[in-house]
Amino acid sequence: MLAFVPYWIPLYIKRMIRIQLLSFFLSLIFLGLNAHAETCSPAKVYSIGEIDPRFHLQPYEVSASAAQAAEYWAHSASFQEISDGGITVELKWDHRQERFLKSERDKRDISRARVEVLRKKEKLEQKRVVYEALLHGNSDLSRAQIVGFLREIESERSSLNREIVDFNETLLLAEKVYSQWKTSDVVGEYRQDTSGEKINVFLVRSKSHLTAVLIHEFGHALGLSHIEKPSSVMNSSLPDDYERFKRVSEVEKEAIAALCP
Ligand SMILES: [Zn+2]
Repeated sequence: MLAFVPYWIPLYIKRMIRIQLLSFFLSLIFLGLNAHAETCSPAKVYSIGEIDPRFHLQPYEVSASAAQAAEYWAHSASFQEISDGGITVELKWDHRQERFLKSERDKRDISRARVEVLRKKEKLEQKRVVYEALLHGNSDLSRAQIVGFLREIESERSSLNREIVDFNETLLLAEKVYSQWKTSDVVGEYRQDTSGEKINVFLVRSKSHLTAVLIHEFGHALGLSHIEKPSSVMNSSLPDDYERFKRVSEVEKEAIAALCP
């Protein structure tokens, strides 16, 4: 009876949504080709210097991360915190942390937009099922009402597809921005000059991230260069699963042994 009503135009929404894991946010970040101490120095002292308040980290929290970093090297070297002097550990605020925080906000916004689009898609899918039932079953609705219902669905579908196009454009733009970023940011550095030894940290994702960065920079303070192996915390770029670095690896023990015959 209702066969003349144009048959449902399939939703192409499913294939249009680029459901991505936002992997570009989990970027590898270079730790920089920093100066490293020249000589064997298995006993080091450090102090916590200036912590920019915008990091929202208290000195005792930085101290705790540094103590964990010291623990990492405990098998092969000794790092002791003192109140002043030694290697000065500082958290420096610049565009890097600001950009990181912006990327976190973008990530949350994109995730929210994605959830919203999927919610609308689900709702539309339910309407489509209802419409199919109306087409093939007996209904109290008039032909005009069913046609009206189809128009409503079609209008929502068009609007949702426009939203999806916008969403994909935002995602592509974010991918572009953050893929350029991931290979360029130095998050920490070890420096040794006439004013003494310094570890500067520019980007802190979390306390455990800070610990991993300090482990790496402490390694430079011991005299280690980069060790481009995934198993080593001395890799020039810190992997995303940096929390797995719990204690000094064999390759690092060997490198330290080579420095300190
Ligand atoms: Zn490095």
